[in-house]
Amino acid sequence: MKENSKFGTRAIHAGQSPDSATGAIMTPVYQTSTYAQSSPGKFIKNYDYSRSANPTRTALEANIASLEGGSYGIAFSSGCAALDATLHLLSAGDHVVLGDDVYGGTFRLFEMVYKQLGINYTMVDMTDRASFEAGFNKQTKLVWLETPTNPMLKLIDIGLASELAKKHGALLAVDNTFATPYLQTPLALGADIVSHSSTKYIGGHSDVVGGVLVTNSSELADKLHYIQNAVGAVPAPWDCFLLLRSTKTLHVRMKQHCENARQIASFLEGHSEVEKAIYPGLESFPQHGLAKEQMKDFGGMISMIVRGGLPKAKSVLEKVKIFSCAESLGGVESLIEHPAIMTHATIPKAQREALGIADGLIRLSVGIEDVDDLIQDLSQALA
Ligand SMILES: *Cc1c(COP(=O)(O)O)cnc(C)c1O
Repeated sequence: MKENSKFGTRAIHAGQSPDSATGAIMTPVYQTSTYAQSSPGKFIKNYDYSRSANPTRTALEANIASLEGGSYGIAFSSGCAALDATLHLLSAGDHVVLGDDVYGGTFRLFEMVYKQLGINYTMVDMTDRASFEAGFNKQTKLVWLETPTNPMLKLIDIGLASELAKKHGALLAVDNTFATPYLQTPLALGADIVSHSSTKYIGGHSDVVGGVLVTNSSELADKLHYIQNAVGAVPAPWDCFLLLRSTKTLHVRMKQHCENARQIASFLEGHSEVEKAIYPGLESFPQHGLAKEQMKDFGGMISMIVRGGLPKAKSVLEKVKIFSCAESLGGVESLIEHPAIMTHATIPKAQREALGIADGLIRLSVGIEDVDDLIQDLSQALA
């Protein structure tokens, strides 16, 4: 594969070549904890112990790094472990500027685990330059953001975030879970680290929990590899194999997620039971311009506020037949959930309301089933 191959080619080939031992086209599951040494301390192929490195994981790390346009990938056993590794770059007394609408588990790690270790944070509305910049102080070492956010699908201008982070001498980390590298590559827009919960679109089949970090800085990569090995939250070889199988279809899946979501969003926008459809691809979306600039397409996530509040929202979630009422997102199957009761229940009610997470808010992860069936399902559930 050539370095400058396009996305679909890199998705299928990057990091992988026929197995040197057998010629196997697919990277084997190297289900081993340890490796023979030819002489004490002399490794046969750079591998000594599978917490430090494993060939199936090496292939996955190189594959996702390539998709993100980065030089180094570092894989973890979950998206939360990837965030945890990033926070291990910091020391007590350091400060983080955090998006006000981040994943619930991200908020929990900052609030319940790292705060007591002396790492403080300020949550800011990053869609507003003045409030964003007001979040920095002299101790700020890291900016952590998601775009689009969950579940309000707010967009953060990654270029602006990079400018502010640099100005204040902080690193910028972007959680690219919702967009995937198919839709946006934050490193190209100035981010220092990209983070994924590969449990979602990267995995795409709701059968693996995983995480990955990507960077272009060899210094950061060295530190993160050191933390990966020292802390030890590494993914199993089998999970790396499943994720390698997944990334081969990432571009094909994302095209269909986007196409289905586009049609469903416009169906919902015109529906009498829907007060508001929230989707970056809609003309009515307040940041539609930024979405067009920053993203290649608009993704598979849609939020909507139904008329009739909680009772109506509950009834929609009970009546769907193809959509499943479940947490998580990014799989080939369509999921529907209620943020206030489910994914965002750990966020205090006052903060939820300030963010717009109303009782009538429903989040859809649009799958790649036939879109006519999905629309019909929502239509009968809303009726
Ligand atoms: C799911 C998710 C995470 C956490 O990932 P896990 O794999 O569940 O640990 C982090 N960020 C976002 C945006 C997510 O959706």
